[in-house]
Amino acid sequence: MIWEELQQQIDARERDGLQRRRRTLEAPCGPLARVDGRDLISFCSNDYLGLANDPALIEAVCVGARTWGVGSGASHLVSGHLAAHEQLECELAAFTGFPRALLFSTGYMANLGIVPALVGRGDAVFADRLNHASLIDAVQLSRAEHRRYPHADVPALVRLLEASTAKRKLILTDAVFSMDGDIAPLAELLEIAERFDAWLVVDDAHGFGVLGPQGRGSVAHCGLPISERLIYMGTLGKAAGASGAFVAASELAVAWLLQTARTYIFTTGASPLIACALSASLRLIEHGDARRSQLVRLAAQLRAGLAGTRWRLLDSPTAIQPVIIGDNHEALRVAASLYDRGLWVPAIRPPTVAKGTARLRVSLSAAHTEAHVAKLVDALRDLA
Ligand SMILES: *Cc1c(COP(=O)(O)O)cnc(C)c1O
Repeated sequence: MIWEELQQQIDARERDGLQRRRRTLEAPCGPLARVDGRDLISFCSNDYLGLANDPALIEAVCVGARTWGVGSGASHLVSGHLAAHEQLECELAAFTGFPRALLFSTGYMANLGIVPALVGRGDAVFADRLNHASLIDAVQLSRAEHRRYPHADVPALVRLLEASTAKRKLILTDAVFSMDGDIAPLAELLEIAERFDAWLVVDDAHGFGVLGPQGRGSVAHCGLPISERLIYMGTLGKAAGASGAFVAASELAVAWLLQTARTYIFTTGASPLIACALSASLRLIEHGDARRSQLVRLAAQLRAGLAGTRWRLLDSPTAIQPVIIGDNHEALRVAASLYDRGLWVPAIRPPTVAKGTARLRVSLSAAHTEAHVAKLVDALRDLA
């Protein structure tokens, strides 16, 4: 029976420590998560600036609801593009320094829209091996050839490009790698894109709002010029504290995406309430230096606290601070011990990360206090 196969596969996942479970939260996203009536210090969310439950965003949603109602009613190209969306797109373009921006409902959908709009059969995508799942799926959907280079290995990328006879070429990378926290060599990648006449698509899900002057993102952080061949994707459900995503690029590239990106065209416009929340969020991001320095302080505190213990932190300059464990079951055991002590840190296992590199993905937020991080350090030192 076809469903017996499913049961066997579920049983196998359980045996291999790969079964995934979710917990239901009984309070809003924040440094303290309430689960089963218990308050846990959470190091799970990507709410890096602590904006997901910010009063200014809540107020913007309330005002937005009275102004715009709740639903957008149609896709953007039919009648679902409201002034709240238009204003947010203009603000995002101005904020990132690109000529124009286009909103998508989620980062996953943005990626699935961008890549097939730019390349197809006979073209090639050159992708970092550690790219996010949505970028991998996007390439598959495009039907372009998928050439993957070892993580951040620029010489290997150059060799692939030199050997390629593809018509159009696109270099595709996370700006901040979501499970490692390191930053892609963006300046070199742009230079290579120029040399080989390729597009460079940068997914800044974890850098937008966090890195660069005023949180303008990884491209600004790395000092890249605004180039015609650069397509910048930022997500709005992480540091920005709401949901959604945007692409910022040249007039022409955005005009093309608006005409051809299927995940833009064939879906209902996100609620205008989200756009209202995001306009408020953008102002907090721009004036959020105090939040960003708190993040830097907390990361330094965690790194100093674990130095000299058996816990190996990856060399990450961002809010994502992974502790490498290796074995799936051990990663689960450590995460469970922390959980028992009131500390919620997710164990990340294959296929999200490579086999043998299961890890705790400690995700810091400006809403954490030094006392929260101190508790995590003490518990980990104790478990070591
Ligand atoms: C989270 C994430 C996405 C997906 O964004 P959503 O808005 O959550 O759909 C895409 N790329 C990267 C690197 C991410 O971390």
